This record gives sequence, C-alpha cells and structure tokens, in this order.
Amino acid sequence: MAVWVKLAKMMDHRVYLDHAATTPLDERVLEAMLPHLKERGGNPSSLHASGAAAREAIEAAREAVAAFLGASPGEIFFTSGGTEADNLALFGMARAAETSGKRHVVVSAVEHAAVRESARRLEESGWEVSWIGVDEHGLVDPAELSAALRPDTALAAVMWANNEIGTVQPVEELADICAEREILFHADAVQSAGRVPIDVARTPVSTLAISGHKLYGPQGIGALYVRDGVALDPTLLGGGQERGLRSGTENVAGIVGLGMACQLASESLEGRVRHESRLRDRIISGVTELPGVSLNGHPEMRLSNSVHLSVDGVEAEGLVLFLDALGFEVGSGSACASASAGHKASPVLLAMGQDEREAFSAVRITVGKDNTEQEIEAFLEAFSTAVNQLRELSPLTTT
Ligand code: PLP
Repeated sequence: MAVWVKLAKMMDHRVYLDHAATTPLDERVLEAMLPHLKERGGNPSSLHASGAAAREAIEAAREAVAAFLGASPGEIFFTSGGTEADNLALFGMARAAETSGKRHVVVSAVEHAAVRESARRLEESGWEVSWIGVDEHGLVDPAELSAALRPDTALAAVMWANNEIGTVQPVEELADICAEREILFHADAVQSAGRVPIDVARTPVSTLAISGHKLYGPQGIGALYVRDGVALDPTLLGGGQERGLRSGTENVAGIVGLGMACQLASESLEGRVRHESRLRDRIISGVTELPGVSLNGHPEMRLSNSVHLSVDGVEAEGLVLFLDALGFEVGSGSACASASAGHKASPVLLAMGQDEREAFSAVRITVGKDNTEQEIEAFLEAFSTAVNQLRELSPLTTT
C-alpha cells in the first residue's frame, strides 16, 4: 500500500508520541477520582462526615505516593504540580537555611525552568549560584558537583532525568556526595517517576518533586517528598494545610488521582519500562537510518520512553506540524516550554555544546505505555516522508 494511503488511514487514529509533555489520564485513575468530583465533595478540614471522607481519601493517597517513593507518608506534601514542588523545595530550603548564614547553591545547567528560574530568583535576591555544566550527552560529572560545593553551600539541585533529551543522571552518587558534606540535595523526578525505580531510602535526596500528569495521573497535582528532619519555610501562607507547609484547600480528586497513578506505576514499572524501551529502540534504529538524523542525549543512561533527535536541514517546528498533519504528535525539542516564552534555543542543548542552528533542528519523540508496535512502524514511515519532503523545500538543506 502506498505510504500516503496508509498515512491517510492513520489520520482517523491519531498517534500520541509526546508523553514527556503530558500523559493521557489512565482510565483507572479517572474512575478513582470521579466520586470525589461528584457525590463526595467535602472539604478535608471540615469535621462532618463528608470532610472526614475527603481527609481519609487524601491520607490513603499519601500512603500510595509514599510507598511508590520508598518514603513514609509524613514525608509527602501535595502541591499543584511539579513546578510548585520545585519552587517549594528551592525557596523553602533556601529560606530555612538563611539563618545558618549559608547563601550558596549549586544547580545543573540542564534543569527544568521550574528549578532554573527559582535559582535565578535566589541569585537576584543575593544568593550566589554556581551553575554546573554537562558533557555532550547532557550528563553531570559528579566530580564537578563535588568541586563546586563550598563550606557556605546550603543546597544543590540536579534533576533525576532530563525532560528534553531524556538523559538520566547518576543521582545516587550526586546525592551521596551532598549527604557526606551535609548539604541539602533536591532532585526533580518529574520525568523519571514511573520510568526509573525511585527509592529515597537508597538515594539520600533531601527533597524530590513529582507531577501527576507525567505518569498517567491528572494535570495540576504533584507532590514534594521532604526527608524527615529537613527544614523548609512555606511559600504559600494561609490556612496551614499540609502541616503548615502548603496552605490552600486540598485538590482532593487530584490527590486521589495522583495516589492511584503512583500505585499503578509501582505495580507495573518493570513491564512499562520493557515495553517503552522496545518501542524507543525501534524508533532510534529506524530514524537513524536516514541521513543527517542523529540521537541526542546519553546512548545508555536515558529514559525508557525518550528519543531526542537532531535532523539536519529541517526546522523542528515545521517537522512537528508536518507530522501533526499526518496524525502523529511529537514535541519540538528546541523551543522553550510555553508559547509565551518565545522562540529561543533550548538552554539544555546549548549546555551540551550544540549551536543554535542544531538546537532548532531538534525533535522529541516520547512513547508511552499504550503505544503499539504498529503505531511505531507507521510513525517511522511518516517521519521519513516528512523529513524528505521538508528537506526538498528547505533552504537549510545540507545533506
Ligand atoms: N520538572 C520537569 C523535569 C518537567 O518536565 C516538568 C514539566 O514539564 C516540570 C518540572 C513541571 O511540572 P508541572 O507541569 O506539573 O508543573
């Protein structure tokens, strides 16, 4: 069958390959949430039966999130998502540490904007920030982290896995280095949760952020793990919910959804990783047969679902839109996260030593637990068609 006919058929069935941006809500998560959006609508701070039911549901979810991370329930604090969890970790720990006179933080150059911009804000308010670089695969060198730590360092932040290129950092080693020097360590685990086993009993992070919508839970809910004994100042003040650390009436349905998403991820992590890795590797072998297409990120230390490519002679946004028109949804690997952030080259790719031109030719393909082999085969055909067509049209073409 001609490729165009096959692709036209695929149009009825859109193929979602942008799971790093957000994952579809799992049906079982939705089922768990629905009662809390419908008949059970109590405020968890109320004393009556509806309030008590909401409180009970929150505490059950807290246990599920804690079990997923190897933590105890008292170490889990619900937030509105990964961004808030990252902000709370950085500002919360920094403010609490100010009394000790320490005003230096160490942050990797490839952090998500939620951490990067929080660190910049600390810098503007008089903190000193050391930005540590990465190699060409986006990997932080533990020796570089070690060398950046000083007697006045209050905390360090390195993400568990990168949201663009999928590189997984040696977090255990990095956290150990900080723990030995009694320096607080924050890990943004938003992309790794549900794809990499996380056990805070083994990895001595002080705080760790997760987000519901990256692991088949709802958008607008996340959690911050805070190790017992680590002091944080709250960033939201009000009614004192979440044991005073995060005021605001709890998003009960969202919290229940996050709890269920974590439970499902705990139960099926191995199977998901095996399935995703197979699809990921098939994409990598298929697309890199095309001339001028190369893989970004670490060849082995990478997320099970992540393929990040530079495509010579093709502008990423054009490729994303072309694929979209063919029914395949992928991410542009170069532009900033939100449309309002403008058309800027990714700081992650620049930190890896790419130039702007390469950075604007990057696409991100991230598979999920429900993608099939047939979808991937169809995607490979669409990708090759799109790249060839765009190259014929493009003045950038060099290959
Ligand atoms: N950290 C990382 C690594 C992410 O990929 C994202 C979202 O893209 C966030 C933080 C922010 O999470 P949220 O969208 O839940 O605010």
